[in-house]
Order: sequence, then C-alpha cells, then structure tokens
Amino acid sequence: MTTHYQSPASAPLFERALEVTPGGVHSPVRSFRSVGGSPVFFRSGDGARLTSVDGETFIDFCQSFGPLILGHRDPDVDAVVRETLDLAWTFGTCEPYSLELAEWINARIPWAEKLRFVSSGTEAVMSATRIARAATGRRRILKFDGCYHGHSDSLLVKAGSGLAGPVTSSSAGVSKEVAAETVVASLDSEDEVTAAFEQYDGEIAAVILEPLPANNGLLIQRREFLDHVVKTARNHGALVIFDEVISGFRVAAGGMAEVLGIQPDLVTYGKVIGGGFPIGCYAGRRDLMDLVAPAGPVYQAGTLSANPIGVRAGLATLRKAEEIGVWKMLEERGKDFAAELRTRFRAAGSPFDVTQYGSLIWIHSASGEPIRRVDRISQTHADRFASLFHAALANGVYLAPSAYEVGFLSAAHDQETLEIAADGLEKAAKMIDGN
Ligand SMILES: *Cc1c(COP(=O)(O)O)cnc(C)c1O
Repeated sequence: MTTHYQSPASAPLFERALEVTPGGVHSPVRSFRSVGGSPVFFRSGDGARLTSVDGETFIDFCQSFGPLILGHRDPDVDAVVRETLDLAWTFGTCEPYSLELAEWINARIPWAEKLRFVSSGTEAVMSATRIARAATGRRRILKFDGCYHGHSDSLLVKAGSGLAGPVTSSSAGVSKEVAAETVVASLDSEDEVTAAFEQYDGEIAAVILEPLPANNGLLIQRREFLDHVVKTARNHGALVIFDEVISGFRVAAGGMAEVLGIQPDLVTYGKVIGGGFPIGCYAGRRDLMDLVAPAGPVYQAGTLSANPIGVRAGLATLRKAEEIGVWKMLEERGKDFAAELRTRFRAAGSPFDVTQYGSLIWIHSASGEPIRRVDRISQTHADRFASLFHAALANGVYLAPSAYEVGFLSAAHDQETLEIAADGLEKAAKMIDGN
C-alpha cells in the first residue's frame, strides 16, 4: 500500500479547483492521478527548489517538465524579464527581440535556415507536419509508440497491436479518419520502419520522432536505428522531422541533431527555448520554411507569437547556458548523480534503476538491460513508482508525478543539492513496503 503524502494547505485548494477546472488541473499529469493521492500546490520556486503552500521546501526534479535548464528564476534571466516588462508585454508588430533569438539559434544550428516562433510545442509540431504534407502532397505521418508530440489531433494516437499500421485515437473527439492518417511503429525496430514505408509507399509525408524519446520513460535509441529511420525515409521521399521540444538546447546547443550529426529536414523546439515562458519554434530547410505564410501557401499565425518576454527570457537563458557550459556540466553531474542513486538503490535492496542522458534522469524498475521501447517497461513499475513518489515527497524531493515522466537537472542542482536529494531518495526507497 502506498502512503500518500498529505499537504494540509493544498487539500482545500484542490477541492475548489475541482469545481472550476476539469479534474482540478490545467494539464492532466498535474492531478497526481497516476500516482494517487491529492496534488501538492506550490507557491514559489527558487533555483533547484519549490516551496509548497504549506511552506515546505522540496528539491525539484520536475522543473516544469523541462524548460528551466538554469533552475527557477535564474537571477540573470530574471533581470532581463524585469527590463522587458518596462518595454512592452506584447507587440503584435515587428520588433527586434525575436530577430535576435532567431539569429542566435541560426548561428549555432545553420541547417535551421529559417525559423518561426509560436507559443507551444504542440503548435510547432502541428505546423511542421502541415508543411510536410504541403511539400510532399502526401497525407500520412509515421510516428513511434512512446514518442509524444503534443496534443494536435492527428498525433494523439495509440499503436494498434502487431505490425506498424494505421491506428486509433488515444483521445475522444478525434475522428477516426484523422487518426488513420497517422502510422505508428515501435521504437528500436528497423523491421517495422521498413515495413511501414513499404506498406504505405508514396503516402508518407514525414516521419516524426523524438531523437531522444523522453516522454514515456527515457528510451535511448541505438544509433543504427536512428540512421535506419532517416535513410529509409529519404529513400521513400519522406521528410524527417526531429521533435526536439525536450532535447533541443537541453542535451547540447544544437540538441540531438548536433550530438548525432544528423540534419533533419524540419525540427521543432519548445521548453528550454523560452526559458520558462510559453514559446515553441519550428525551423528547417529554407525551401520548406518558405512554404509558410506569407511567403507561401501554408497558413500559420499567432496573436502572441514571439512574445517579447518569452523570446528575451529564452535568449538570456541560452546565452547564459552557453557561457557557463551548462551542457557539459550537467552531463557530468547527471552521470555522477545517476551512478550515486544506482549504488544506493542497490545497497538498499531496492528494485529501482536509473537511466540517464545528459541532464535527463529516469528512475524505473530494474530490467537488467537498456529499455528502448515502451513494451519493455515493467508492468509493475507504475505501482512501485507511486510509492517511491510519495515517499520522496515525505523526504523533501519532488519528482514529476508519473512513472513515465523523466526528471531534469538544472544548473541550480549543485553538488550539495544533489547529495541531499540522493539522501532523500535513498530514505524514500527504504521506506517503501517490501522494498
Ligand atoms: C512537451 C512536448 C511537446 C508539447 O509541447 P507543449 O509546449 O506542451 O505543447 C511536444 N513534443 C515533445 C517532444 C515534448 O516533450
């Protein structure tokens, strides 16, 4: 049995929230439904820490699900945000700020020849797939089971059973015709990719993937598999879209594309690129991006697109990240922290293991071999994780409230903080019934 963490001040707030918001939340995972109990409400964030409405402080590994690579309210970004508040909150006109961010990115990711800023990762992906359909005159998109691409209709699909094939929607309210335009294959399976492209020869506009799948556990892919996906797509005249909404500016300035030395045709960004404010971005080859209105016939627009607070907070975040060498620093800290946790879990006789890539950490049930696809995740992991999650809260550590969400280190997670967190997680693992 899981002992649920109790937050006395949060309980009445959640009661009220349930009256005015579906499920009491503005995004489903926040509800704690997948770990049980009642959600903790937080009042403030500072560096690596969150403070609840009870006044309790936790080391935060959720970090708003990834945007805060410098931690909460980094002082240098904070100064830029305050300065921008005195200039304008939104223009709806041309302004120099988004130009600076676009040029900064373009200088580091030269194959992202043109960029368009939007307000979320979902919007970025929706727009990129629209370009792919327009450019190829084809209707289908190939995606992978275990990759998340936001909540646009055609990407809210679940895998059928068996071979890659058309699928049903994972959400009510999406027509089966729209869902059936998406083909789903398993990660880590060259055969399924080949089969999908053969079966729908000439119909697949693009393959979209998280080159580092981090939305259903951390499913690190083999290099050969990624090469196979790209090569097969190109052989069949389909575009390659890297969804780097998590990995972009998180594992390297140029994301996984830089790490792998693979240039996709289109890429989507979000999260880190806005430094904690709502932004998304899609980018890629000039000829493809020039299909977008007003240069071309693919319509896409946004009232708050390239919001000045977001683009300036994003640029301040990226500049500082580069200055302090955040990617290398967090790769080292991540590796050490994961090793430390593994050692402590093992010594405690706990069933948990840790998968890590750069600043991304996923605590999961040990399986003895790398987990590269969804169906290799232990069936009992979700229950075990729920117990660990609540025990971690009782020991001052806030993990994302789902067994399938990864944790994020930020520049604010220094050695001392990570030591304290490792102590808390070790105690949590020992507290759990039956270990
Ligand atoms: C978070 C995420 C999205 C969706 O971004 P939102 O800003 O939540 O709409 C899309 N793709 C990936 C890979 C993500 O991690």
